[in-house]
Amino acid sequence: MSNSNSRLVYSDEIGRTCPKCHQPLQKCQCNKKPANNAKGDGVVRIQRETKGRKGKGVTLITGLPLAGDELKSLAKSLKQRCGTGGTVKNGIIEIQGDHRDLLLDLLQEKGWKVKKAGG
Ligand SMILES: [Zn+2]
Repeated sequence: MSNSNSRLVYSDEIGRTCPKCHQPLQKCQCNKKPANNAKGDGVVRIQRETKGRKGKGVTLITGLPLAGDELKSLAKSLKQRCGTGGTVKNGIIEIQGDHRDLLLDLLQEKGWKVKKAGG
């Protein structure tokens, strides 16, 4: 029986694909952090970016442990709470204007370790 058991495990391993992207699990990126996250240390960072921006600039949120639709829906709710616009680029959420204090509270509510970074 040990032979057929090991063969079963082996073929299971080969046949495993991600239900979301249909890639073999080894290649699947769905549950991994976005590759472009600036920091991979599990800390969410909030910083203000004014260079080349109009007015108060934007607030950038980096290091989020989310990707794809989860990241987009978080960005949407943060924009609503801040009453402003924003966008998602390369795994980074940009919120228009300076909302660092509010965003710090909102992200900490989700249980993440959040730091204000830079200026
Ligand atoms: Zn996948």
